[in-house]
Amino acid sequence: MAEVRGTPAAGEITDVVSSDGEFLGRGYYNPQSRIAVRVLTWRDEPVDREWWIGRLRRAIESRRHGTAGDDDGDARAERLVNAEGDRLPGLIVDRYGPWVVLQALTLGIERRKLLLAELLRELLSPRGVYERSDVPARDREGLERRAGVLLGETPPQRVAIKEHGLELLVDVRRGHKTGAYLDQRGNRLLVQEHVRRHPRRESLTVLNLFSYSGSFGLHALYAGAARVVSVDSSREALELGEECLRHARLPEDRCELIEGNVFELARDYAAAGRLHDVVVLDPPKFAHGRAQVARAARGYKDVNLHALRCVEPGGLLMTFSCSAAIDPELFGKIVSGALVDSGREAQVLARLQAAPDHPVALTCPEGAYLKGLLLRVH
Ligand code: SAH
Repeated sequence: MAEVRGTPAAGEITDVVSSDGEFLGRGYYNPQSRIAVRVLTWRDEPVDREWWIGRLRRAIESRRHGTAGDDDGDARAERLVNAEGDRLPGLIVDRYGPWVVLQALTLGIERRKLLLAELLRELLSPRGVYERSDVPARDREGLERRAGVLLGETPPQRVAIKEHGLELLVDVRRGHKTGAYLDQRGNRLLVQEHVRRHPRRESLTVLNLFSYSGSFGLHALYAGAARVVSVDSSREALELGEECLRHARLPEDRCELIEGNVFELARDYAAAGRLHDVVVLDPPKFAHGRAQVARAARGYKDVNLHALRCVEPGGLLMTFSCSAAIDPELFGKIVSGALVDSGREAQVLARLQAAPDHPVALTCPEGAYLKGLLLRVH
């Protein structure tokens, strides 16, 4: 951007024009942000109530075209608005059964969040719209972090949802992200299907590293796996996992939820020869920006090395990175480096990404933060 003409108010709608004054686009303005104007439309059209409800409706309706999770009916959890990916920069809307969760990441959305909550009520008739704007991205926009009810009822501490047939409990008020890692929904289905199809699933073992509430492992149990070990450093997450086990009436004696550091535990398991048929490795974001890529790469390599050594020969490793700063090519190199050091061999069976209700704009490739590899390890 070359210059600011006039005195547009922070958070308000403003035009972007070329050097000869020709209209280019219309968006909302924040002089405090690194991105001064987030363009909402390239057309010379009013951005009013009708405009916002139109965009929301289009995002919601596009989810109705057969994305995974349709079988779960009204109890499903899904992303309804994925910011730039739905041409609504700064706005995340997730649904957990009858509850809607809104995340406002920018000043422009912050200013309109009550309007947006009302429009969502009109479109979805939820029991309540809850705000989970308690994320670090808000700091860069000069906004405070906040969570609380926007309208309707307050959600209970545990919301029951269904994911590919399995009933799960979600903590929308205090859980990670807006309550759960919805982006991994399709990949959890892959694990469920793999176990279901496995010729000897009665003896199949799964190691779920960085498990949060253990959902990858819960899907494996639901599909009939013999034994699941989930590991996370958060006691609260594991407690939620235990509640999920009981709630879904899964065989508790086949599931172990371990509070621990994956870096240490996976190394110890590998050293002790405690191998598993399926290993899931879903670490938190190690790189929060370009400056941290080198350090993060070392972390990913270490933990992938340990995880590879935990796989039973012929078994699977599903490994992920959710750092936007680490692109798929670099991720492939990191895992390949770990493979060489592990002395094992592997084939790529699939390249993985976020569920299709997390669409990505081609103009905003950072949206494709989640990448993964499904490997058969020999
Ligand atoms: N696979 C999960 C999401 C995992 S998010 C799902 O599908 O729901 C990453 C998790 O890693 C978080 O729950 C966080 O508590 C945990 N974590 C972060 N550092 C860790 C460490 N060093 N050891 C174990 N867990 C860790």
